[in-house]
Amino acid sequence: MTRSFRLQIGLGALALAAFPLATPAFASFESCAKSVRAQVLKAGIRADIVNAAFKGITFDEKAVRFSRTQPEYRLAIWDYMAFLVDDARLADGAKMLRVHDKTLRAVERAYGVDHFILASLWGVESDYGQEKGIFFLPHALSNVACAGKKPAMFTAELIQALRIVQAGDVKLSDLNGSWAGAFGQTQFMPSTYRRLAVDFDGDGRRDTIRSVPDALASAANFLKKAGWQSGLPWGFEVKVPGSYSGSVGRSRKAPIAAWARQGILRADGKALPRSGSYGLIRPAGPTGPAFLVSRNFDVLFSYNAAEAYALAIGHLADRLRGGGAFKTAWPTDDPGLDRADRKRLQELLIAKGYYRGEADGRIGPLTIVAIKAAQKKAGLKPTGRPGTRILKVLAGN
Ligand code: CA
Repeated sequence: MTRSFRLQIGLGALALAAFPLATPAFASFESCAKSVRAQVLKAGIRADIVNAAFKGITFDEKAVRFSRTQPEYRLAIWDYMAFLVDDARLADGAKMLRVHDKTLRAVERAYGVDHFILASLWGVESDYGQEKGIFFLPHALSNVACAGKKPAMFTAELIQALRIVQAGDVKLSDLNGSWAGAFGQTQFMPSTYRRLAVDFDGDGRRDTIRSVPDALASAANFLKKAGWQSGLPWGFEVKVPGSYSGSVGRSRKAPIAAWARQGILRADGKALPRSGSYGLIRPAGPTGPAFLVSRNFDVLFSYNAAEAYALAIGHLADRLRGGGAFKTAWPTDDPGLDRADRKRLQELLIAKGYYRGEADGRIGPLTIVAIKAAQKKAGLKPTGRPGTRILKVLAGN
């Protein structure tokens, strides 16, 4: 259940706007941090590690703000997919499949998890190890615990994080991640790491931060333990007859023959599988793409409790395997932007004086304010959403 915190920040950059933060009571943070420190010592973490972990700790406005941020608008599935399954992630993924072919195949043999799924998950979680998070975990977790959001849980995660250091698996100075504590190439929470991380490169340490084999095998171990069935597809896009009025939902699974009787066909024209139990999902309602999803889709869901997440992992894996885009378009006349176009939008916002930040492709609060201003000027509804329409307006076409 902590996974949803991680998702929020993984995608937060594009969807979230800041709520005004109450003035921090700095003195009370200091006394709270002392109490967290005492709890960590009491849990048996060595004093030298605790001293180093708490050295220079201060109130972190950013971590606290992120922990309190609420989604400004519900992220549309087409925005989510445009961001996660984009040309850059496909190109990077193709490269990573070549560079790490041996490792990916060895992990697949050891855990029975399809190596395209592993590459996809790696790409979504950390952009293939390139983005592991900017927060120093001991400081961020203390801040979030002290800010009042599930203090016991975040303190427990901090203790788990320092146990990882104490075990000699990772260096304290490497312990950077999300404000909520997810870290490394697989973005495991410390407690998840303690349960499921594995040493696959054989150096005696479980290091999902610096070791690609350890990271990929740890993700595979997670999926295997969650019930991944080797050889079972996560699902596939389908065509649903307009007259369909049956059940919808990934948990409402039925034998494939039952779906065939309803007139449901694979969107790519291939034959339906001969067996297996599937549920029908329609993430954008009856007019958007539809999918039959298996138990393995539920396993992906367990990594990060969102159907959109599971769909992004499954679809990116299929694209890396050589498959095409969805056959049915998302039901919108204002499609989402990929990361390159998000940057371009920010560059245009800068050029036209709406935005003074960096064109980094991350849609934070300041970009959202700038988009709203540009939308207002253009006579569009000021939603703050980075979409194709406002991009075209600013680009002058
Ligand atoms: Ca290792």
